[in-house]
Amino acid sequence: MDTIDFRSDTVTWPTAAMRQAMAEANVGDDVYEEDPTVNELEETTAVLLGYEAGLFVSSGTQGNLLALLSHTQRGDEIIMGQDSHTFVWEAGGASVLGSLVYCPLPTDQIGRMDVAQVEASIKPDNPHLPRTTLISTENSSGGNHGAAIPPAYFADLRRVADKHGLRLHLDGARLFNATTALNIDPREITQYVDSASICLSKGLCAPVGSVLVGSRPFIAQARRYRKIVGGGMRQAGILAAAGLIALREMRLRLGEDHRRAKVLAEGLAQIEGVVLDTAVVQTNMVFFELTPDAPLTPTELTQRLWAEYHIKIGGYDNRRLRAVTHYWITDNHVQQLLSATRQLLQTSSS
Ligand SMILES: *Cc1c(COP(=O)(O)O)cnc(C)c1O
Repeated sequence: MDTIDFRSDTVTWPTAAMRQAMAEANVGDDVYEEDPTVNELEETTAVLLGYEAGLFVSSGTQGNLLALLSHTQRGDEIIMGQDSHTFVWEAGGASVLGSLVYCPLPTDQIGRMDVAQVEASIKPDNPHLPRTTLISTENSSGGNHGAAIPPAYFADLRRVADKHGLRLHLDGARLFNATTALNIDPREITQYVDSASICLSKGLCAPVGSVLVGSRPFIAQARRYRKIVGGGMRQAGILAAAGLIALREMRLRLGEDHRRAKVLAEGLAQIEGVVLDTAVVQTNMVFFELTPDAPLTPTELTQRLWAEYHIKIGGYDNRRLRAVTHYWITDNHVQQLLSATRQLLQTSSS
């Protein structure tokens, strides 16, 4: 039986077209900025998102880290959502390596901080306090159903940032999922932020890599920090070749993943014992819970889906479950997950 992997869109392996492009890529030494394929990827991403320059980095975590370091000085404070990927899942890198202070704030159901609270959290100029210099945002919001945040929020934050002389960074690991769901050009979001990082290796299927974009001086600084963290790669055009296909082709098909996620969410919501709000399923993520009187705990359901059906889903804190659709998930896989969940929750209760 083949494994059906719904845990994340990071499990996507590269497509045949990507493998072909990788085999044939023109390459050079990217540390000398002489890899034509890397240069093309950086330029393409910058144009797509409306910035002067781009930097190919090894991961989304590295892109965010370089952005946070490049926008700030030691001891500065960054405001960010308390469930943002950067706050929760990046090992506190900007504190470890940049001596930066995090100011985590609560977010609403789709991942927005309260803009008035953001403004109130900016510290006055006082030697007792860190200097607040950066606001970090995320779209789509992975900790909040992968919800797509519309541009108005970023416009509001921009106003606050300008008023207080702050910079604004966007963790756009899944920005194209958000803009696909909102049916807008990505620049309708990125026009409000000083820098953005996008992942090529999630729903877009590239094997490795993210791109950080911003102004030319910002990217020059980020390039220096990339060298410091050991992220200067050599013939990285082999990877960038897949990244170009991710941006040019795979980006345009994300709506299919969203459609399958909707079908999955609507199917799950009809199963007794499943708790799920279909209204918040806007992109490729389906978060759900089980009722306390369901015949299985979330952990048991996850284990039995794997043991008996070879289906993997994600689980958090023995409460929330997550299924993510992506390029390698078909309509049939969605039906298989639905029927397996139905069988497990029904059989166990009889
Ligand atoms: C995956 C992800 C990252 C980090 O990307 P890696 O390539 O796993 O380091 C950052 N932010 C968000 C929102 C993500 O989903």
